[in-house]
Amino acid sequence: MYIKTFCAHCGKTNLHNVAVSCEKTSGILNGKLFSRSTIKGVEVRETVTEEILMKSVLKTLREHKKLHISKEELADTLKNIFGISSELSCEIAEKIQRENEVLEADFKSNIKAIKKTSKSQTSKKVT
Ligand SMILES: [Zn+2]
Repeated sequence: MYIKTFCAHCGKTNLHNVAVSCEKTSGILNGKLFSRSTIKGVEVRETVTEEILMKSVLKTLREHKKLHISKEELADTLKNIFGISSELSCEIAEKIQRENEVLEADFKSNIKAIKKTSKSQTSKKVT
């Protein structure tokens, strides 16, 4: 599971993929069933910056053609596939959608620019 921390030195966001190991014990005490889990250890498997995680998430989503889904679906995907904690999933889903909107706007204005230049080029050829 990925959790977020802030660097004490530069304040940047770091994401840590942590593995928590638990030990579950259950039994019967005074005629009642009990179960408890004790945390045995927490291990940091990987630490990445937010940018790097976003990039790899975007790449995977693009490969699976899953970029154009609702924010809720996106957050679910992040949670289930990437193991990102729910709170963080919503945050990243929002960022991805915002980035997508910017990319799309860029793409549209680029197409307009291309159309304009090709028009002016063809009209130049005619004259
Ligand atoms: Zn730092």
